[in-house]
Amino acid sequence: MRKLTVIALAAAVATLNVAAAQPIRQTTNDWRDAFRQLEDEDWPTPNRERRATGAPGPDYWQQDVDYDIDIHLNERTKVLTGSATVTYTNNAPDELDFLWYLLDQNRFRDDSIAVMTETVGGGGRAASRVGGSMPEGVSAYSVRRRDRLENDGYGFNITAVTDADGADMDHTIVDTLMRIDLDDTLETGDSVTFTIEWNYRLIETQVVGGRAGWECFEETSDTGGDCIYQIAQWFPRAAVFSDYEGWHNKAFLGRGEFGLEFGDYNVSITVPQDFIVSATGVLQNPEEVLTQSQRQRLEEARTADEPVFIVTPSEARANERRGTRSEATWEFSAENVRDYAWAGSRKFIWDAVGVEQDGEGEAPDLVMAMSFYPNESEPLWSSFSTRAVEHTLEVYNSFAFPYPYPVAQSIAGPQGGMEYPMITFNGGTYGRPVEDDDGNLSYSLGAKRGLIGVIIHEIGHIYFPMVVNTDERQWTWMDEGVNSFLQFEAERLWEEDFPVRRGDPHTITSYMVSRDQMPIMTQSDSILQFGPNAYSKPTIALVILRETVLGRELFDEAFQTYARRWRFRRPTPYDFFRTMEEVSGVDLDWFWRGWFYSTDHVDISIDRVIEGTLNTENPEIENALAAQIEADRAESLTEVRNREDGLSTYAESNPEVIEFYSRTDRHAVTNRQREAYERFRDGLEEYEEEIIDRGDRFYYVDLSNQGGVVMPVILEFTFANGETDLVRIPAEIWRYNPVNTTWVYRTQREVVSVELDPLWETADADRTDNYYPPRIEPTRLEMYRSSSSSSNMMDDMDRRVTRDDIQDRPE
Ligand SMILES: [Zn+2]
Repeated sequence: MRKLTVIALAAAVATLNVAAAQPIRQTTNDWRDAFRQLEDEDWPTPNRERRATGAPGPDYWQQDVDYDIDIHLNERTKVLTGSATVTYTNNAPDELDFLWYLLDQNRFRDDSIAVMTETVGGGGRAASRVGGSMPEGVSAYSVRRRDRLENDGYGFNITAVTDADGADMDHTIVDTLMRIDLDDTLETGDSVTFTIEWNYRLIETQVVGGRAGWECFEETSDTGGDCIYQIAQWFPRAAVFSDYEGWHNKAFLGRGEFGLEFGDYNVSITVPQDFIVSATGVLQNPEEVLTQSQRQRLEEARTADEPVFIVTPSEARANERRGTRSEATWEFSAENVRDYAWAGSRKFIWDAVGVEQDGEGEAPDLVMAMSFYPNESEPLWSSFSTRAVEHTLEVYNSFAFPYPYPVAQSIAGPQGGMEYPMITFNGGTYGRPVEDDDGNLSYSLGAKRGLIGVIIHEIGHIYFPMVVNTDERQWTWMDEGVNSFLQFEAERLWEEDFPVRRGDPHTITSYMVSRDQMPIMTQSDSILQFGPNAYSKPTIALVILRETVLGRELFDEAFQTYARRWRFRRPTPYDFFRTMEEVSGVDLDWFWRGWFYSTDHVDISIDRVIEGTLNTENPEIENALAAQIEADRAESLTEVRNREDGLSTYAESNPEVIEFYSRTDRHAVTNRQREAYERFRDGLEEYEEEIIDRGDRFYYVDLSNQGGVVMPVILEFTFANGETDLVRIPAEIWRYNPVNTTWVYRTQREVVSVELDPLWETADADRTDNYYPPRIEPTRLEMYRSSSSSSNMMDDMDRRVTRDDIQDRPE
């Protein structure tokens, strides 16, 4: 730390001005206003549907689409055949002559946009092969997948679209979308009813990928080698018609998920008679499909303290027998859901427990948390699954709103993690223990963490986006980011030291300085580094907003307001941003700009700290100080060497030249200085005298913003006596100059060091410049041992070289 004595006393006392000490290194050419408002520039103009407050406006509307569906699973051919009677209600101020429907299974047609445009690297991996370099290999997995896509004939076969009178309706299929032309214009407030019939072949999830499908297990001594079916995107769903985009007719490319409308469903699912079925909604015919003891156990589970088996592991094992020809139909109904999924298998163990909550008159006071899983998932699933569902409801309720549906279900199967209203597909193969050669089961810490984490995540999605109905096809962060943030909060409340993967700010720094970044505000299908971009970065942005920028009280109030304002409605990013500012009372445009609209990172540096102390003008003090400064300086090297060489000065040989100045201490206090000091003191105001006599120290902290994102500056000062002081400076410190700034810390204690962001809360990507004075950085080095790996063909072929071989070489 450099020490500086403030010399110009009167001026220093009168103008202790930070700005005066501020070095402006940024030129006016590259100046940018990090605090410029986003309103009316990047954000749309508010209107009667969506207000500047972030709330839905007085004219907010959305469509209603209700379904009655019959669906049949052919277990042998893996074909689903269905018929849906749809009632579409037009609440828009627009007249509609046609409706668009989503045919998401068409993504798996071998001529779909999704399949035809798959590129090398694919799937959001950065730097997919950039021209020129030679490909190094082909994955057998991808070849097998392409074989399936080319040979198995996936995609919807739409066999009929008929109106209420049974007459055919014109319809046109465009990739994953279908336009249904209406017989009559659908006016505002009117409904139309029509029927769609279809069939399609289910995909094998682990071969083709995707969010649903089937998985068959190997037959073992005590299992039947049966299959689990997880069924989603299985019926033509209405595309979104919204106030801000009209029809949302962007093809499904596999990544950007689903924009959907709310509605009520009655669904009849016909499957082999020995299947256990889980579905969105509440079972309507338990007397027909459940045994009496199953119904009784379900009743007991409602008030049980811990999960109760409805189907036990041994019953599931006994149920795994092949060849049932008879079928059963499970009837479910669900209200106010934006999608519908189900799962079935004769392998399912089933457990359940009732979770009490305060429904606030809008939600049930008791929710059934339930899990369905095969014996292959045991004992992990009966230990954790339903309990993780229960925990998720408790944490999300506290952040958002009471869980609005009567059931919350977690299903094991091929899909590693996917959400639907009231039902989630979790875990995939990593949710299963492994068996060694001796038949002993074990699971890794990662398997435990992964399973609990994914169940929290997917159940959490029932709030976001299944209830807060965000536009996933455009903005992945609005469901994945917001939900991963709440997942992090729930994981941190699951168990002390739970190995949480994403959420603590330091976990994002390597991504934040990586190549191939794009802003969080990027359309879903175009995002590179998908996990860090759409999940981790928004999660950590929200953690920082909560813990560092707003504080818990303001954040939680604003976040809950957002969740409740947009429950069962469709928010845009701007509705979220505006609500958070409006309710917290804090301008956050700089934060959204840095974290959501840029690829800058956080890296603030302490460039220099200068300690200033006030000149007292008292010659008794100041002259001694000047003498001390002179004494601290090294003596003239030339004079030292002269002495060492035995050289004598002229004055030593001629003492008659020694006079007053040779004999007098240069720093001696003179009477004139004493008189001047008295006059100076007489001229001071009382408060000025007090300041001088108190002995304040002024620490000038020079900061530079190396990363680009303006952020609050958190400084911890450590004093000579070992005490510390943590100072939190709001981000507005950067408003005049977002690159360089100087801040003054005043204290009477001597500061020995300063640390920036000591709690690691801002995702500062380079901590080496966070300490003043700097620290030596430790690292562990691996010792390399030289090993020759270059091939030696002679040796490989067991040839021994002779001198003749060499001399014989051709010219
Ligand atoms: Zn998710």
